[in-house]
Amino acid sequence: MAEVLAVLEGAGHSAHVVGGTVRDHLLGRPVHDFDIATSARPEEVMALFDHTIATGVRHGTVTVVLGGLTVEVTTYRLESGYSDGRRPDCVWFTDDLVADLARRDFTVNAMAMDLRGRLIDPFGGRADLLARRLRAVGDPRQRLGEDALRILRGVRLAAELGFAIEPGTLAGMTEQAARLLGISRERIGQELARLLQADWWHVLPWFAAGPWLEVLPSPWPRLRHGLARLAARADEASAWRALCPDGAEARVCVSAVTWMVAADEPPDTAGPLARAVAWPNRRGRRVRDLADVVRLIPTLHGAAAWRRFLFRRDPDDVRTGAALCDWFSPGKAPNTVSWAETAHRWLRTQPLWHLTDLAFDGQDALRLGVRGPDVGKLLQALADAVLQGEVANEHLALCELARRWVQGKHSRG
Ligand code: ATP
Ligand code: MG
Repeated sequence: MAEVLAVLEGAGHSAHVVGGTVRDHLLGRPVHDFDIATSARPEEVMALFDHTIATGVRHGTVTVVLGGLTVEVTTYRLESGYSDGRRPDCVWFTDDLVADLARRDFTVNAMAMDLRGRLIDPFGGRADLLARRLRAVGDPRQRLGEDALRILRGVRLAAELGFAIEPGTLAGMTEQAARLLGISRERIGQELARLLQADWWHVLPWFAAGPWLEVLPSPWPRLRHGLARLAARADEASAWRALCPDGAEARVCVSAVTWMVAADEPPDTAGPLARAVAWPNRRGRRVRDLADVVRLIPTLHGAAAWRRFLFRRDPDDVRTGAALCDWFSPGKAPNTVSWAETAHRWLRTQPLWHLTDLAFDGQDALRLGVRGPDVGKLLQALADAVLQGEVANEHLALCELARRWVQGKHSRG
C-alpha cells in the first residue's frame, strides 16, 4: 500500500490512507481492505499504474492491483444525497483532504495517514479511539438522517470493535431510526449479518431498548421482546459464547436462532426473516434447521425417537442445538443429565445418518425384483427398521428383511 502512496506522491498528488484502514491499523486489528484517498482524478490514477480496474469512476474510485494487493484509490470528494441509501446522488471532486474526511460517518473512520505515518485527525478520532467510543462526525442527527445506513453501521461497528456510542450519537441514531425504512433490504441484511457474527452482547443493553428493530423489514420487529429477554441475561453471555461454534457463518446462524428462540418464534420464521433482508436461502435453511433442533430435542424420549431425529441431521447442528437447549433452560436440578450430554450419547451410537449409508441399495432392491416407486419405499422401510433397532445395518440382515418385505407385499396383493 505504501508503494501506491509513493507513486501518487511522486507524481505530485496528495495521497493518504483513510477510513477504516487507518482505524484498524491504529487499533492493531487485521486490516481487511485497503483504502487510499488522493487529490489525483480517476483518469490520472489509471494512467499511473499498469493494472487498474475502473470500479466506480463516476464516484472517483479506481482499484489498483499492485504486488498481489488490491487497493481502492478514491479521489477526495464531497457528496450529497443518499436517496438509495447506498451511493450519493451527487459527488464533486476536491483537492481538500479535510473536506473528504468530513463526509465520513464516525470520527474513528475520519482519520487519514500519509506515507510517513503522519496522522491527519481533524475530528478527534484518535481520542475517541482511545476512549473506545463511536461518535458521528458533525451534527449526529443530520449525519445519521442523510444516510440511515450509518445507524446500522454504528450498531455493527460498536459490536465489532467493542466500543460504546457517544450519547449524542446514540440520540441521533434513535431519532433517525424511521429512516431505515428507506434502506435497501440487501444493505440491511449485510449489516445485520455482520452484527450477528460480531459480539452483539456488547451492544445489547442499548440496542434492545432502542427502536431500530421495529423499523426493520417484517418479521424482524417481532424479535424485539426476545432481545429484551436476552439483555436481562447478559451475565450468561460468556456461557452462550462458549457454545457458539467457530466461523462467521455459523455465528450468524446461531445468533439468529438465539434471537428467534428468545422471542418464542417457531423455526418457520427463519425463512421469512432471511427473505426480508435478502439473505441467501442457504442461510435461511440453516437457521431453520438449527431452530428445529432446539425445538425438538426437549421432546425426544427413548432410543427410537432419538435415532429417527438424528437421521439426516447435521451432527454439528445437533451439538450446538443441544448446548442452546441447556442454555435456554437453566436451573435444572443438579445431577440431571444435560441435553448436551444426552445428545452426545445418541450421536455416538447413531446407526444410520443417511439413506445412502444403508448397507442395502437400489441395485439390491432390483435383484429382488422390486421396481419403480417400490424401491424408495423398500429402502425407507429398511432404514426405519434400522432406526427402530429392529435390525442391524448389515447387508445380509437387510437382504433377509427385504425378502420378507417383498413377500409381505405380494401376500398383501
Ligand atoms: P469495514 O471495512 O470493517 O466494513 P469500514 O468503516 O472500513 O468498515 P467501508 O465500507 O470499508 O467500512 O468504508 C470505508 C470508509 O468509508 C469508512 O471507514 C468511512 O470513512 C467511509 N464510509 C463508508 N460508508 C459510509 C457511509 N455510509 N457514510 C459515511 N461514510 C462512510
Ligand atoms: Mg473498510
